Amino acid sequence: MEKLSLRLWVRKMTRVVEKEITCIACPMGCKLEIIRDEDKYVIEGYKCKKGLEYGEQELKDPRRIITTTVTVKGGFLPLVPVKTDKPLPKGLIFDLMKVIDGMSIEAPVEMGQILLENFQETGVNIVATRDLPEKILKK
Ligand code: SF4
Repeated sequence: MEKLSLRLWVRKMTRVVEKEITCIACPMGCKLEIIRDEDKYVIEGYKCKKGLEYGEQELKDPRRIITTTVTVKGGFLPLVPVKTDKPLPKGLIFDLMKVIDGMSIEAPVEMGQILLENFQETGVNIVATRDLPEKILKK
């Protein structure tokens, strides 16, 4: 018993919490810990398989859905809300935002319309999340 406790204590001391993240796979928002345990990583704190998958994804290839707006010329509003249709690798978010900042499209825009296709060969598209008709000019 003593020997086991010592082994557990040594094991605990060699574990390093590399990162603490919140699982966003459901509204429960469990706190996950990515722990380096000697030469491997372990994820703790998840309450279901989806949480484990989320933690593994964050460890290997963190991705995010991006929501923002794009400038519209001739629309009844100056901006249309947009989002990525799939999660984008985190390392490409800044590049995407630079491209979107420089974008300007013509009205009308339809909800679901692809405004930017296959960003940097990732298979991720930017799509409009609402209709934006043309501005009606009064006579
Ligand atoms: S671990 Fe499971 S229960 Fe917890 S937030 Fe993630 S998906 Fe929800």
